[in-house]
Amino acid sequence: VTTISLTSAAPATAKTDAVVVGVARQPADKAAHGTKRKKSATSEPALALPASSAAVDAALGGSLLSTLNALGAKGGAEEVTKIASNGALGAPLLVVVGLGDVPADGAGYDAELLRRAAGAVARALTGTSVSKALFALPADDAERIGAVAEGALYGAYQFDTFKGESRTPIAEAQVATTAALARKADVKSAVASASALGEYVGLTRDLVNTPPGHLPPAEFADRVVKAVAELPAGAGKVTAEVLDEKALRKGGYGGILGVGQGSARPPRLVRVGYTHPKAKHRLAFVGKGITFDSGGLSLKPPASMTTMKCDMAGAAAVVGAVLAIAAVGLPVNVTGWAPLAENMPGGGAIRPSDVLSMYGGKTVEVLNTDAEGRLVLADALVRSGEEKPDVVVDMATLTGAAVLALGERTAAIMSDDDTFRTQVYEASRRAGEAMWPVVMPAELRKSLDSEVADLQNVGQRMGGMQVAGLFLKEFVPDGVKWAHIDIAGPAFNEGAAYGYTPKGATGSGLRTLVRLAADVADGTIKLG
Ligand SMILES: [Zn+2]
Repeated sequence: VTTISLTSAAPATAKTDAVVVGVARQPADKAAHGTKRKKSATSEPALALPASSAAVDAALGGSLLSTLNALGAKGGAEEVTKIASNGALGAPLLVVVGLGDVPADGAGYDAELLRRAAGAVARALTGTSVSKALFALPADDAERIGAVAEGALYGAYQFDTFKGESRTPIAEAQVATTAALARKADVKSAVASASALGEYVGLTRDLVNTPPGHLPPAEFADRVVKAVAELPAGAGKVTAEVLDEKALRKGGYGGILGVGQGSARPPRLVRVGYTHPKAKHRLAFVGKGITFDSGGLSLKPPASMTTMKCDMAGAAAVVGAVLAIAAVGLPVNVTGWAPLAENMPGGGAIRPSDVLSMYGGKTVEVLNTDAEGRLVLADALVRSGEEKPDVVVDMATLTGAAVLALGERTAAIMSDDDTFRTQVYEASRRAGEAMWPVVMPAELRKSLDSEVADLQNVGQRMGGMQVAGLFLKEFVPDGVKWAHIDIAGPAFNEGAAYGYTPKGATGSGLRTLVRLAADVADGTIKLG
């Protein structure tokens, strides 16, 4: 596990394995302004060093830009160049990371850009002999310092449980800052928050990456109970409760039971509750937890099944968010709900046209057993509403339609409350997660009308992402602020690693939930 800390040691002389600085590019038209260079020399962007790289450059005799030019560096975002310091620095290795264009006058470097830059470096140092790295990037306030710390931790993530040989990430990441900044309360809390986020994004990714054979619903529940028991000393009070299949039957959780009945490994409903003595508001997070989605009798084609271990990413993010909120001790009450089931086509499986009686009594005709996430969520949404939360947010790898609409890196935010949807969007932006607000046209709802039950689980294909949102809305109590976040695209990265995002599980959504809870706690989001 990688640790993070602040240091006011001088980057040029600090005794560490690697020192990390940034390089940006000055667009051609701006580089030409006020310089004596010939026109031909300004047609390409020129490299430019941020002030945070100056001390290291000076220790190298002012040669850093010419060295980078000789090595072909362009300064583009996340470009990583390694240079031997040959005794000129306290560290044997200098790592220079690209930061893209120099920001407009007065504006600092974007926090998410710094997060990705630090992550790209942490990935590049994984599997090398570097154990300790000092990040001297242009981060001069709490938000940016926290972003560098987060990026280093997310980038250092490794999942090697099932590998004979593991690649060792950096053990220790230090963020360079001034002694004055290091003493500031907001800077300290940004680093503490980054540390908690690093830990629980890691837990979320571990849960998602774990092969589905190793993570049936009961095992997922056990891991949550264990993670609660292992919360750091000083964390807030968290309780974990698990309903097994008997308790689910007794309670009338027809959605969770129905989806799970085709598997030999029975479903669970996990509740993690965090309370703070000074809390004024209560949030509920509900995450889809299909530990493997074969589609059930509406079987998926083989190629669509290979990534379906990630169909519990919403539940993992929800649990991780509650634990991260507890670890930093936000003054707010938060309950996380993880309805867990394995969707399999066994002999006991639900059949297309079966009717399920959901928790709370509504009936649903199941026309497609592969639209199962909304069935387990419906039970958990109704149950979460019984505790009278001010806010309910559900998070789910719910629809292929969301990926078609927004691509693989952007989540969709839906709500029937325009103000709240915007507040969730603002929280996601500040957390550095790509999400986009999406409308739910009311006329799509009628396609969910069933001939035999209160509603059916699939509706019209056009607008399928919003139809799923409208289905869920049926199970949200009136008067509760609610948002639905579809993370089907960003939860699992099938492409190459980038920034702080590895291949496989990403931990998507957790940071937005934590930011949202912080916004409620500090009054950025005003509730009655
Ligand atoms: Zn499905």
